[in-house]
Amino acid sequence: MNILFNDVHDALVNAYSQFSSFKGGENASYIPYLATVPDNLAAIAIVTVEGDILSKGDSEFRFALESISKVCSLALALEDVGPSVVQNRIGADPTGLPFNSIIALELHGGKPLSPLVNAGAMSTVSILKAENVENRWKRILDMQQQLAGAPVSLCEALNHSEQTTNFHNRAIAWLLYSADAIYCDPMEACDVYTRQCSTLVNTVELATMAATLAACGINPLTQKTVLTAENIPFLLAQMTMEGMYGSSGDWAYTVGLPAKSGVGGGVLTVVPGVMGIAAFSPPLDTMGNSVRAQKMTASLTQQLGYNLYKNR
Ligand code: GLN
Repeated sequence: MNILFNDVHDALVNAYSQFSSFKGGENASYIPYLATVPDNLAAIAIVTVEGDILSKGDSEFRFALESISKVCSLALALEDVGPSVVQNRIGADPTGLPFNSIIALELHGGKPLSPLVNAGAMSTVSILKAENVENRWKRILDMQQQLAGAPVSLCEALNHSEQTTNFHNRAIAWLLYSADAIYCDPMEACDVYTRQCSTLVNTVELATMAATLAACGINPLTQKTVLTAENIPFLLAQMTMEGMYGSSGDWAYTVGLPAKSGVGGGVLTVVPGVMGIAAFSPPLDTMGNSVRAQKMTASLTQQLGYNLYKNR
Protein backbone atom coordinates (compact mmCIF):
# COMPACT_ATOMS: atom_id res chain seq x y z
CA MET A 1 0.00 0.00 0.00
CA ASN A 2 1.51 3.35 -0.98
CA ILE A 3 1.23 6.70 0.76
CA LEU A 4 -1.49 7.95 -1.57
CA PHE A 5 -3.60 4.93 -0.73
CA ASN A 6 -3.11 5.67 2.99
CA ASP A 7 -4.32 9.22 2.36
CA VAL A 8 -7.40 7.87 0.61
CA HIS A 9 -8.03 5.52 3.53
CA ASP A 10 -7.80 8.36 6.08
CA ALA A 11 -10.06 10.59 4.00
CA LEU A 12 -12.63 7.80 3.65
CA VAL A 13 -12.67 7.12 7.39
CA ASN A 14 -12.94 10.82 8.08
CA ALA A 15 -15.83 11.33 5.59
CA TYR A 16 -17.67 8.36 7.07
CA SER A 17 -17.21 9.33 10.71
CA GLN A 18 -18.25 12.92 10.07
CA PHE A 19 -21.39 12.27 8.03
CA SER A 20 -22.64 8.65 8.35
CA SER A 21 -25.14 9.63 11.04
CA PHE A 22 -25.83 13.15 9.83
CA LYS A 23 -29.48 14.03 10.55
CA GLY A 24 -31.87 15.07 7.81
CA GLY A 25 -33.96 13.72 4.98
CA GLU A 26 -36.42 10.85 4.73
CA ASN A 27 -36.61 7.51 2.96
CA ALA A 28 -38.52 7.54 -0.34
CA SER A 29 -42.04 6.35 0.42
CA TYR A 30 -43.81 6.52 -2.98
CA ILE A 31 -42.27 3.08 -3.61
CA PRO A 32 -43.53 1.19 -0.50
CA TYR A 33 -40.49 -1.16 -0.34
CA LEU A 34 -38.07 1.76 0.05
CA ALA A 35 -39.89 3.09 3.11
CA THR A 36 -39.10 -0.19 4.94
CA VAL A 37 -35.28 0.01 4.55
CA PRO A 38 -33.61 0.93 7.91
CA ASP A 39 -32.77 4.62 7.71
CA ASN A 40 -29.63 4.39 9.84
CA LEU A 41 -27.68 2.36 7.25
CA ALA A 42 -24.69 4.17 5.74
CA ALA A 43 -21.64 3.17 3.71
CA ILE A 44 -18.93 4.57 1.48
CA ALA A 45 -16.56 2.69 -0.83
CA ILE A 46 -13.94 3.38 -3.44
CA VAL A 47 -12.54 1.17 -6.20
CA THR A 48 -9.45 2.51 -7.95
CA VAL A 49 -8.70 2.06 -11.65
CA GLU A 50 -5.98 -0.37 -10.50
CA GLY A 51 -8.62 -2.47 -8.72
CA ASP A 52 -7.86 -1.55 -5.11
CA ILE A 53 -10.92 -1.48 -2.85
CA LEU A 54 -11.64 0.39 0.37
CA SER A 55 -14.95 0.56 2.20
CA LYS A 56 -16.45 1.71 5.47
CA GLY A 57 -19.83 1.14 7.13
CA ASP A 58 -22.64 -1.10 5.86
CA SER A 59 -20.88 -1.79 2.57
CA GLU A 60 -22.22 -5.37 2.30
CA PHE A 61 -25.85 -4.27 2.49
CA ARG A 62 -27.65 -4.57 -0.86
CA PHE A 63 -29.96 -1.68 -1.70
CA ALA A 64 -32.12 -0.63 -4.67
CA LEU A 65 -30.18 0.63 -7.67
CA GLU A 66 -33.14 2.78 -8.80
CA SER A 67 -32.15 5.68 -11.04
CA ILE A 68 -28.48 4.80 -11.04
CA SER A 69 -29.64 2.08 -13.46
CA LYS A 70 -30.21 4.91 -15.96
CA VAL A 71 -26.43 5.18 -16.33
CA CYS A 72 -26.13 1.47 -17.24
CA SER A 73 -28.89 1.65 -19.85
CA LEU A 74 -27.51 4.86 -21.31
CA ALA A 75 -24.10 3.18 -21.54
CA LEU A 76 -25.72 0.37 -23.52
CA ALA A 77 -27.62 2.82 -25.76
CA LEU A 78 -24.37 4.62 -26.57
CA GLU A 79 -22.92 1.27 -27.62
CA ASP A 80 -26.02 0.34 -29.65
CA VAL A 81 -26.93 3.55 -31.46
CA GLY A 82 -24.06 5.98 -30.76
CA PRO A 83 -23.87 9.44 -29.16
CA SER A 84 -25.49 11.40 -32.03
CA VAL A 85 -28.66 9.31 -32.09
CA VAL A 86 -28.92 9.55 -28.29
CA GLN A 87 -28.56 13.34 -28.51
CA ASN A 88 -31.02 13.78 -31.39
CA ARG A 89 -33.72 11.36 -30.29
CA ILE A 90 -33.53 11.63 -26.49
CA GLY A 91 -31.44 14.72 -25.64
CA ALA A 92 -28.36 16.02 -23.88
CA ASP A 93 -29.56 18.86 -21.69
CA PRO A 94 -30.71 19.27 -18.10
CA THR A 95 -34.47 19.64 -17.59
CA GLY A 96 -34.21 21.89 -14.53
CA LEU A 97 -37.28 20.06 -13.20
CA PRO A 98 -37.93 17.00 -10.96
CA PHE A 99 -36.91 13.56 -12.27
CA ASN A 100 -40.48 12.50 -13.00
CA SER A 101 -41.67 15.83 -14.40
CA ILE A 102 -44.38 15.86 -17.04
CA ILE A 103 -44.05 19.63 -17.43
CA ALA A 104 -40.53 19.06 -18.80
CA LEU A 105 -42.08 17.08 -21.67
CA GLU A 106 -44.78 19.68 -22.29
CA LEU A 107 -42.18 22.44 -22.55
CA HIS A 108 -40.05 20.67 -25.14
CA GLY A 109 -42.48 19.19 -27.64
CA GLY A 110 -42.51 15.81 -25.91
CA LYS A 111 -38.72 15.33 -26.08
CA PRO A 112 -37.23 14.04 -22.80
CA LEU A 113 -34.04 16.21 -22.99
CA SER A 114 -32.02 13.91 -20.73
CA PRO A 115 -31.64 10.11 -20.63
CA LEU A 116 -31.21 10.45 -16.86
CA VAL A 117 -34.76 11.54 -16.01
CA ASN A 118 -37.63 9.03 -15.99
CA ALA A 119 -38.98 10.02 -19.42
CA GLY A 120 -35.55 9.93 -21.04
CA ALA A 121 -34.67 6.68 -19.32
CA MET A 122 -37.77 4.94 -20.72
CA SER A 123 -36.94 6.38 -24.13
CA THR A 124 -33.39 5.04 -23.70
CA VAL A 125 -34.66 1.55 -22.82
CA SER A 126 -36.87 1.65 -25.93
CA ILE A 127 -34.02 2.60 -28.29
CA LEU A 128 -31.88 -0.43 -27.39
CA LYS A 129 -31.47 -3.23 -29.89
CA ALA A 130 -33.70 -6.04 -28.66
CA GLU A 131 -35.79 -8.83 -30.15
CA ASN A 132 -38.41 -8.90 -27.43
CA VAL A 133 -39.11 -7.77 -23.88
CA GLU A 134 -37.07 -10.51 -22.18
CA ASN A 135 -34.10 -9.94 -24.46
CA ARG A 136 -34.29 -6.17 -23.73
CA TRP A 137 -34.31 -6.89 -19.99
CA LYS A 138 -31.51 -9.48 -20.21
CA ARG A 139 -29.23 -7.08 -22.08
CA ILE A 140 -29.73 -4.37 -19.45
CA LEU A 141 -29.21 -6.75 -16.52
CA ASP A 142 -26.10 -8.09 -18.21
CA MET A 143 -24.74 -4.55 -18.57
CA GLN A 144 -25.38 -3.88 -14.86
CA GLN A 145 -23.43 -7.06 -14.02
CA GLN A 146 -20.55 -6.30 -16.37
CA LEU A 147 -20.16 -2.83 -14.87
CA ALA A 148 -20.41 -4.16 -11.30
CA GLY A 149 -18.14 -7.13 -11.99
CA ALA A 150 -20.50 -9.21 -9.86
CA PRO A 151 -23.85 -10.99 -10.15
CA VAL A 152 -26.73 -8.50 -9.90
CA SER A 153 -30.28 -9.71 -9.58
CA LEU A 154 -33.82 -8.47 -9.57
CA CYS A 155 -35.43 -8.14 -6.13
CA GLU A 156 -38.88 -9.63 -6.64
CA ALA A 157 -40.40 -7.80 -3.64
CA LEU A 158 -39.05 -4.45 -4.82
CA ASN A 159 -40.09 -5.03 -8.44
CA HIS A 160 -43.60 -5.94 -7.28
CA SER A 161 -43.69 -2.82 -5.13
CA GLU A 162 -42.68 -0.66 -8.10
CA GLN A 163 -44.75 -2.36 -10.81
CA THR A 164 -47.93 -2.01 -8.75
CA THR A 165 -47.41 1.69 -8.01
CA ASN A 166 -45.75 3.08 -11.18
CA PHE A 167 -48.85 4.81 -12.62
CA HIS A 168 -47.04 8.12 -13.06
CA ASN A 169 -44.28 6.49 -15.12
CA ARG A 170 -46.87 4.67 -17.24
CA ALA A 171 -48.48 8.04 -17.99
CA ILE A 172 -45.07 9.43 -18.99
CA ALA A 173 -44.52 6.47 -21.33
CA TRP A 174 -47.83 7.15 -23.10
CA LEU A 175 -47.01 10.87 -23.39
CA LEU A 176 -43.71 9.90 -25.02
CA TYR A 177 -45.62 7.65 -27.39
CA SER A 178 -47.96 10.46 -28.39
CA ALA A 179 -44.91 12.62 -29.17
CA ASP A 180 -43.10 9.89 -31.18
CA ALA A 181 -40.33 9.87 -28.57
CA ILE A 182 -40.46 6.22 -27.52
CA TYR A 183 -39.16 3.51 -29.85
CA CYS A 184 -40.82 0.28 -28.71
CA ASP A 185 -44.14 -0.54 -27.11
CA PRO A 186 -44.46 2.10 -24.34
CA MET A 187 -45.62 -0.39 -21.72
CA GLU A 188 -42.71 -2.68 -22.57
CA ALA A 189 -40.32 0.24 -22.05
CA CYS A 190 -41.98 1.12 -18.73
CA ASP A 191 -41.95 -2.52 -17.57
CA VAL A 192 -38.25 -3.01 -18.37
CA TYR A 193 -37.33 0.42 -16.94
CA THR A 194 -39.14 -0.53 -13.71
CA ARG A 195 -37.23 -3.83 -13.56
CA GLN A 196 -33.87 -2.12 -14.10
CA CYS A 197 -34.62 0.11 -11.08
CA SER A 198 -35.51 -2.95 -8.97
CA THR A 199 -32.10 -4.64 -8.83
CA LEU A 200 -29.97 -4.64 -5.69
CA VAL A 201 -26.27 -3.76 -5.34
CA ASN A 202 -23.95 -3.18 -2.41
CA THR A 203 -21.72 -0.13 -2.08
CA VAL A 204 -18.57 -1.88 -3.31
CA GLU A 205 -20.41 -3.15 -6.41
CA LEU A 206 -21.69 0.37 -7.05
CA ALA A 207 -18.17 1.77 -6.67
CA THR A 208 -16.96 -0.86 -9.18
CA MET A 209 -19.53 0.41 -11.69
CA ALA A 210 -18.13 3.90 -11.20
CA ALA A 211 -14.55 2.60 -11.42
CA THR A 212 -15.32 0.97 -14.79
CA LEU A 213 -16.38 4.39 -16.07
CA ALA A 214 -13.25 5.94 -14.51
CA ALA A 215 -11.07 3.32 -16.25
CA CYS A 216 -12.23 4.07 -19.84
CA GLY A 217 -14.77 1.23 -19.83
CA ILE A 218 -12.50 -1.57 -18.55
CA ASN A 219 -13.74 -3.12 -15.32
CA PRO A 220 -10.71 -2.95 -12.98
CA LEU A 221 -11.78 -6.09 -11.08
CA THR A 222 -12.57 -8.40 -14.02
CA GLN A 223 -10.25 -6.69 -16.55
CA LYS A 224 -13.02 -7.06 -19.13
CA THR A 225 -13.75 -4.30 -21.64
CA VAL A 226 -17.36 -3.37 -20.94
CA LEU A 227 -17.70 -0.11 -22.87
CA THR A 228 -16.08 1.68 -25.79
CA ALA A 229 -13.69 4.27 -24.33
CA GLU A 230 -14.88 6.94 -26.82
CA ASN A 231 -18.42 6.77 -25.41
CA ILE A 232 -17.43 7.48 -21.80
CA PRO A 233 -17.15 11.30 -22.13
CA PHE A 234 -20.74 11.44 -23.46
CA LEU A 235 -21.96 9.39 -20.52
CA LEU A 236 -20.08 11.51 -17.97
CA ALA A 237 -21.33 14.74 -19.57
CA GLN A 238 -24.92 13.53 -19.22
CA MET A 239 -24.24 12.70 -15.56
CA THR A 240 -22.81 16.16 -14.95
CA MET A 241 -25.89 17.81 -16.42
CA GLU A 242 -28.67 15.75 -14.83
CA GLY A 243 -27.16 13.05 -12.59
CA MET A 244 -28.18 14.77 -9.35
CA TYR A 245 -31.43 16.13 -10.85
CA GLY A 246 -32.27 19.64 -9.61
CA SER A 247 -29.02 19.72 -7.60
CA SER A 248 -26.79 18.90 -10.58
CA GLY A 249 -25.64 22.50 -10.90
CA ASP A 250 -24.89 22.82 -7.18
CA TRP A 251 -23.08 19.48 -7.29
CA ALA A 252 -20.91 20.59 -10.23
CA TYR A 253 -20.21 23.86 -8.41
CA THR A 254 -19.24 22.29 -5.09
CA VAL A 255 -17.96 18.79 -5.98
CA GLY A 256 -17.11 19.10 -9.67
CA LEU A 257 -17.38 15.40 -10.57
CA PRO A 258 -19.94 13.45 -12.64
CA ALA A 259 -22.34 11.56 -10.39
CA LYS A 260 -25.69 9.77 -10.38
CA SER A 261 -28.14 9.30 -7.55
CA GLY A 262 -31.02 6.90 -6.97
CA VAL A 263 -33.99 7.08 -4.60
CA GLY A 264 -32.70 3.87 -2.99
CA GLY A 265 -30.10 6.11 -1.31
CA GLY A 266 -27.09 5.41 -3.53
CA VAL A 267 -24.80 7.97 -5.15
CA LEU A 268 -22.19 6.90 -7.72
CA THR A 269 -19.35 9.34 -8.50
CA VAL A 270 -16.60 9.08 -11.11
CA VAL A 271 -13.09 10.51 -10.76
CA PRO A 272 -11.92 9.91 -14.37
CA GLY A 273 -8.65 8.03 -14.58
CA VAL A 274 -8.46 7.62 -10.80
CA MET A 275 -11.34 5.85 -9.07
CA GLY A 276 -15.03 5.19 -8.68
CA ILE A 277 -16.76 6.25 -5.47
CA ALA A 278 -20.08 5.01 -4.10
CA ALA A 279 -21.93 6.14 -1.02
CA PHE A 280 -25.22 4.92 0.38
CA SER A 281 -27.75 5.91 3.01
CA PRO A 282 -31.56 5.86 2.55
CA PRO A 283 -32.77 9.30 3.77
CA LEU A 284 -33.24 11.67 0.80
CA ASP A 285 -33.47 15.43 0.38
CA THR A 286 -36.33 17.10 -1.51
CA MET A 287 -34.58 16.51 -4.87
CA GLY A 288 -34.46 12.73 -4.23
CA ASN A 289 -30.72 12.56 -3.47
CA SER A 290 -29.32 10.83 -0.37
CA VAL A 291 -28.38 13.42 2.23
CA ARG A 292 -25.54 11.43 3.83
CA ALA A 293 -24.22 9.96 0.57
CA GLN A 294 -23.81 13.47 -0.84
CA LYS A 295 -22.08 14.71 2.33
CA MET A 296 -19.73 11.72 2.56
CA THR A 297 -18.80 11.95 -1.14
CA ALA A 298 -18.26 15.71 -1.02
CA SER A 299 -16.07 15.36 2.06
CA LEU A 300 -13.96 12.55 0.58
CA THR A 301 -13.37 14.26 -2.77
CA GLN A 302 -12.66 17.64 -1.20
CA GLN A 303 -10.12 16.17 1.22
CA LEU A 304 -8.34 14.51 -1.73
CA GLY A 305 -8.63 17.53 -4.01
CA TYR A 306 -10.55 15.64 -6.71
CA ASN A 307 -12.52 18.08 -8.89
CA LEU A 308 -12.62 18.09 -12.70
CA TYR A 309 -12.45 21.85 -12.79
CA LYS A 310 -9.32 22.03 -10.69
CA ASN A 311 -5.83 21.90 -12.17
CA ARG A 312 -4.09 19.19 -10.16
N1 GLN B 1 -37.89 3.80 -9.93
C1 GLN B 1 -37.87 5.18 -9.56
C2 GLN B 1 -38.88 5.96 -10.38
O1 GLN B 1 -39.08 5.64 -11.51
C3 GLN B 1 -36.49 5.75 -9.74
C4 GLN B 1 -36.39 7.22 -9.42
C5 GLN B 1 -35.04 7.66 -8.89
O2 GLN B 1 -34.24 6.88 -8.39
N2 GLN B 1 -34.82 8.96 -8.92
O3 GLN B 1 -39.47 6.89 -9.89
